[in-house]
Amino acid sequence: MRPPATRFGMFLDDYATILNPRRYVEAMTAAFVGAGGEIERAGVSALTREGDGWRLQGAGSRRFEHVVVAAGAWSRTLLDPLGIRVPLESQRGYHVQFEGGDGVISRTVVLAGKKVFATPMELGLRFGGTVEIGGLARPPDARRSDVLQRIAVESFPQLAGLSAQTWMGHRPCMPNSVPVISEAQGQPGLWLAIGHDHLGLTDSLPTALRISDGICGARS
Ligand SMILES: Cc1cc2nc3c(=O)[nH]c(=O)nc-3n(C[C@H](O)[C@H](O)[C@H](O)COP(=O)(O)OP(=O)(O)OC[C@H]3O[C@@H](n4cnc5c(N)ncnc54)[C@H](O)[C@@H]3O)c2cc1C
Repeated sequence: MRPPATRFGMFLDDYATILNPRRYVEAMTAAFVGAGGEIERAGVSALTREGDGWRLQGAGSRRFEHVVVAAGAWSRTLLDPLGIRVPLESQRGYHVQFEGGDGVISRTVVLAGKKVFATPMELGLRFGGTVEIGGLARPPDARRSDVLQRIAVESFPQLAGLSAQTWMGHRPCMPNSVPVISEAQGQPGLWLAIGHDHLGLTDSLPTALRISDGICGARS
């Protein structure tokens, strides 16, 4: 359905959507474990060089020949102490997800004038957007999700009265929007996969391939 006050739109027929990011990640981790990988969930407080490898300090405290720092907007807490300077900043974003907004739209609709993405997800109709430079510690600012909710209801009045959940997340951003996907200079075995900006989910697979090529040698 066309949002009111919209005069024209552009149809992108090769646009793809992940309907449930959690289920997507769970499927990938299951495939990783199925292929012999091991998963351990633990906070890493520091990285220290040990011989020709790296020790992860914190729960577990294990040593590895290669370590990939992919800690999103928090990566500097691990890199700064090693003298690796990366101008990474969080661009905080928000979404509002309506329960029961089925059938309002059938695919992602970008409200380009408002810079808001509306996507029918498995668990509800989600409106995401906004950029806030607010650091890592500050709590979410409800005024931002309120604005998203207002835009959603103005654009699709049938959403009025539906219950909605809000969320704030951190987009790890570089000043030039180009992610860092490489071995850290002068630090053999320490790999960086950071700064994926607004496209970290989209870019995750090419990033993983580039890092694994770097560690294991490029595929022929
Ligand atoms: C509102 C919003 C909408 C978005 N929409 C899209 C979209 O449509 N498509 C898209 O591709 N991207 C989208 N993004 C961007 C995407 O979410 C990010 O680019 C992506 O999450 C970055 O991935 P990452 O793995 O680098 O960091 P994260 O996803 O932040 O993951 C980093 C992980 O490291 C963990 N961690 C941090 N420090 C430590 C430590 N010391 N020890 C152990 N673990 C640690 C964190 O807990 C976290 O789980 C959106 C972001 C927002 C906020």
